[in-house]
Amino acid sequence: MIAPKSCPICKKPRSAGFAPFCSARCRDRDLANWLNEGYALPGQPAAPEDVAREEDLLPTCQPRPRTP
Ligand SMILES: [Zn+2]
Repeated sequence: MIAPKSCPICKKPRSAGFAPFCSARCRDRDLANWLNEGYALPGQPAAPEDVAREEDLLPTCQPRPRTP
């Protein structure tokens, strides 16, 4: 039996067109993660507002209850 692999970002079933991810969103998100780690801007930590906004752009991935 072959275990179906899942998207490393959101754990949904991956899509052949975006392997190993499930969608362009997760692919871009993973790429952004790599860029953030490899090209961290000195003295410029990610602003919480920017992170929150990025989360808003990914409503179908990782549904997560918001705490006000
Ligand atoms: Zn995904």
